[in-house]
Amino acid sequence: MMSSRKSPIWHPFTQHALHGEMTRVVRGEGAYLYTADDRRIIDAIASWWVVTHGHCHPHIVRAIQEQAEKLNQIIFAGHTHDPAEAVAAQLLQLAPDNLDYVFFSDSGSTSVEVALKMALGYWHNIGVPRTRIIVMEHSYHGDTVGTMSVGARGVFNKAYEPLLFDVASVPFPVAGREQATLDALQAACRSETAAAFIVEPLILGAGGMLMYPPRVLKEMKRICEAHNVLFIADEVMTGWGRTGTLFACEQADVSPDIACYSKGLTGGSLPLAVTLCRAEIYDAHYSNDRSRTFFHSSSYTANPVACAAARANLELWQHGAGDRVASVAAMQERLIAPFRANPRFENVRHTGTITALDLKASDAGYLAGIGPKLQAFFQRRDLLLRPLGNTIYVMPPYCVTEADLEEIYAAIGDAADELT
Ligand SMILES: *Cc1c(COP(=O)(O)O)cnc(C)c1O
Repeated sequence: MMSSRKSPIWHPFTQHALHGEMTRVVRGEGAYLYTADDRRIIDAIASWWVVTHGHCHPHIVRAIQEQAEKLNQIIFAGHTHDPAEAVAAQLLQLAPDNLDYVFFSDSGSTSVEVALKMALGYWHNIGVPRTRIIVMEHSYHGDTVGTMSVGARGVFNKAYEPLLFDVASVPFPVAGREQATLDALQAACRSETAAAFIVEPLILGAGGMLMYPPRVLKEMKRICEAHNVLFIADEVMTGWGRTGTLFACEQADVSPDIACYSKGLTGGSLPLAVTLCRAEIYDAHYSNDRSRTFFHSSSYTANPVACAAARANLELWQHGAGDRVASVAAMQERLIAPFRANPRFENVRHTGTITALDLKASDAGYLAGIGPKLQAFFQRRDLLLRPLGNTIYVMPPYCVTEADLEEIYAAIGDAADELT
């Protein structure tokens, strides 16, 4: 097919042949986006799950402005700077116990690549031939080749399959069938080559906002520990209050061996990511032998402006962001509740600041025809919602008002009435 578009830009996760004009956004403030054609859109998905406190939060904007005038980029090998040191020190105070070191990178995907390399590097450097990664069905960990390998296989990565490495997979812990997951994990961990288990704690995001309880997370950690398999928590989406606590692992009292944080790390203002790890993993790379160096870097590792934004974000968490999270979680619970009795929906669910529900449709799944129709419906109502197939979810910035949320849920009810 030939394209007749004017713009040369190739957008992410976008089928241009089926997509209309891109929405041109000129300004963001709090929970709202303002468009070139003078519309005000409520951002009900936090701009792809990154914006926590709101667009252009003044405290974060000021930190970015001040840092940009002082030092805006520096090679991070052989050098350090105050914003990075402050962020690392505060992260270790806030993160689960037993995480001792912080490695910076610049996106969720790279933080996961770093986690996988740390795990493999650990076993390699202590001379134990463990190389196999265990994953959970329906997981998403990013779009690079390594992160696609540990994520769900399907239409998203079919063309690249020859490049993907082999993993062991355990089923998602569907309510009532949690034991099957635990048994499969136990079996996979017994393998002599099991190196690490990577999982999204409490909520599988891109896999369809699938939720499971803290006790399953806790049990999975216990099994990994018993078999000496490293436990990697991918909190790229679940971190920064999304599940109701700062990090999802807190709810299960789980201390991962490696943890990945990104998205809300800068409040959603600039790209930055971190991978935290236990001392044993760092120590396995610490040596007079240069061949044991952790060979990973990206040009913008720990960019000072991004780190200043992250420092400002951490300050907001020390000054009441948790209260906003509790209030959004309570509003979400109240507004999603009536949908449990709505026959047009199923699997109505809620964890912390995130709600999700599945519209009963004849064709389910990500490529379901209903997805784009829903999205177009919400667009006409000036709402940014982006269903995953027939799964609609609400993940707002924490400054969202009750009136905004009421408008969002009213539109979800109307969409079901009109489109089914
Ligand atoms: C978004 C996401 C990633 C990838 O993050 P990017 O910044 O988009 O590379 C990884 N893991 C999870 C759980 C995510 O939700």
